Amino acid sequence: MTIEENFKEIRAAIGAACKEAARDPQDVQLVAVSKFQPRDRIEAALVTGQRVFGENRVQDANERWSGLKESYSGLRLHLIGGLQTNKVREAIRLFDVIETVDRENLVAELVKELKKTPKAMEFFIQVNTGDEAQKGGVAVDALPALLKTCHEAGLPVSGLMCIPPVDQPPGLHFALLKKLALRHNLPKLSMGMSGDYKKAIAAGATHVRIGTALFGERPAANSD
Ligand SMILES: *Cc1c(COP(=O)(O)O)cnc(C)c1O
Repeated sequence: MTIEENFKEIRAAIGAACKEAARDPQDVQLVAVSKFQPRDRIEAALVTGQRVFGENRVQDANERWSGLKESYSGLRLHLIGGLQTNKVREAIRLFDVIETVDRENLVAELVKELKKTPKAMEFFIQVNTGDEAQKGGVAVDALPALLKTCHEAGLPVSGLMCIPPVDQPPGLHFALLKKLALRHNLPKLSMGMSGDYKKAIAAGATHVRIGTALFGERPAANSD
């Protein structure tokens, strides 16, 4: 299958999942995860009209997108990987949505940089719903305090994001994230990847982050 066919198929599948869940397809955004993908595949995606992309490393994303950002209007880049405080300035320059806010000192650094260079951006909080030591995200118990910090510091948080543990059924994690979003009055939910996006849509996802199902396998050497 070509990239073009993959996009067509996935967009249709998202539409069908929305229909099944009695949801408006306009409310579910496809974030095409382009991390580590070669340039020609990204250009093929751009040709299909795709404008929303997800990347997990600031440095890689910068190399790949800094030239393209000027050529394609309406491009929106989502950071979906962990953010180190020393990369905050670069992340703000490149990204439109940062989905991985997960700790107090990162909030402080984001606010500090945004004061220097104001920019309209969206922020999601990543929640470590599976309580996995190796994964980013705030613990479920610590979410209210982190949201309070964001609120007091003036960081505009519009949603939550999670990556369920690979060895567990994702549905429970999606349901938990939805419950947390409702409790805190947050309208956006980034959940669901190539293997489970239909379940995520049924559970209320507003953003699905899909990589391999659109672009094919990532080059193995530096995939993570
Ligand atoms: C890589 C990645 C994805 C995409 O995963 P696929 O299984 O290739 O669709 C989604 N979300 C995050 C946070 C990722 O790092």
